[in-house]
Amino acid sequence: MRLGRRFSELALLGLVSCIEPGLHARSSLTEAPLQIPYDHEDALAPALERELGKDQLRTGHASRLRSEGSASVGDVRLTRARSLLGERIELGLEQDSLTLLPGRWTVHVAVPARHHVTIGVRGPAGALRKLTIIGGPGLTRLRSGALADDGRLPAFVSFETPRRTAEVLVVIDVDHSVQVLRAVAERFPSIDGAAAEALPLVGFPSPTEGRAGYQLETPPRYSFVRADVAAALKRAFKRTKRRFRRNAITIGDASQWNGGRPATDLGHRRHISHEGGRDVDLGLPSMQGSSRIWTRCRVVRTPPDRAECAEDSVVAFDAERMAYFLATLIDGPRRAEDDASRHRPKAVSPSGHGPRPHAEIEAILLDRAYIAEVREALAKLYERGLVGAATFAQLSEGRLLRHSPWHVDHVHLRFAGASAVTPEALDFEVLPSNTGMVAADDPSDARSGPRGSTPAGSAAPD
Ligand SMILES: [Zn+2]
Repeated sequence: MRLGRRFSELALLGLVSCIEPGLHARSSLTEAPLQIPYDHEDALAPALERELGKDQLRTGHASRLRSEGSASVGDVRLTRARSLLGERIELGLEQDSLTLLPGRWTVHVAVPARHHVTIGVRGPAGALRKLTIIGGPGLTRLRSGALADDGRLPAFVSFETPRRTAEVLVVIDVDHSVQVLRAVAERFPSIDGAAAEALPLVGFPSPTEGRAGYQLETPPRYSFVRADVAAALKRAFKRTKRRFRRNAITIGDASQWNGGRPATDLGHRRHISHEGGRDVDLGLPSMQGSSRIWTRCRVVRTPPDRAECAEDSVVAFDAERMAYFLATLIDGPRRAEDDASRHRPKAVSPSGHGPRPHAEIEAILLDRAYIAEVREALAKLYERGLVGAATFAQLSEGRLLRHSPWHVDHVHLRFAGASAVTPEALDFEVLPSNTGMVAADDPSDARSGPRGSTPAGSAAPD
């Protein structure tokens, strides 16, 4: 009898917990805590199964353990392994930040429902050993980090909270004292009035739905955008995913957490724009492999300070998907096609051509080799009635969608309007001297860029 054998071990654990301070009063044999070693929800169910045997495991156990921190199987009480989750501490709604001493902590961060939330960890660049976020109901897919994350501080996790969220758990392991902070913004409210108000800078929300159609590539501290820009992009990603069912497109550099240019904190700014949350780099949709920031043509350097695609050298670029995505972004929400917009107020553009977009695009910068393929694909989409006449015309002439050197591995989108307003909690500077990193002119630092393999990483002007 597997459970029988477990009981003797559990009894031992019960004795151990009896001498732990704070536990002795309520511990008995039947309440002996079985320490389930897990530090990530994906590891929880397999750990339970291993400990209890499959026949003892019910689906409710894992979710109860996750949400309440304890659950019962028969007479056995399960609790989380404190040694892995560290000391528990709360960041309530009444405070914006708290300071943690070196060690392992589980911070219960209170979050308001239906908001945009950014949780940040601020401290010396190399202080973070581990950062795990456990989202709970509606946020079970929430993860920290990004494809090309470098693990440096400040680190951020941004997401939109569903209707019933009250808190998320953040497991933080640090070897220095750090500050945990929370910034909250209203979810981009409606199409109306967007241009009139000052809009906040928000971290691009981590994808929390199965068909979000995008993923974060750049370290999250460089993925901050104006609130309406995030909303417009999210919608276009989702609609593109729905139509093509292909892989997720990645989000590259936008702006730093404080609205500055990405990598200002490391002392080598990667762009001449990208300030104030109006610019964002995206990976090129690919026909083969992931749609990450990656050179999909043969690059020529003529003159040497310009990188461009050689003629007829584009490989595996999914021009149809790129064309559809861009057209969708320009068209803005269409109620008939988009569930999420059903509850939105009716909005008509000043020109009277259908609904007004979430955020207006000022420029789309791409290498001319890709542009040629996008325009070809666009004509076909237009013939099939998937792209409106006005959008087709806009993307066909050279003002909006235009060639720019260095755009050989990504597409750069610049949105119209004012710079975003940086929330107070995010309005701090990190100077290269404080990051413990080498100075900008040290050639060894060139290796640290997230796209070091591509020419745009070193000196891309946009
Ligand atoms: Zn760019």
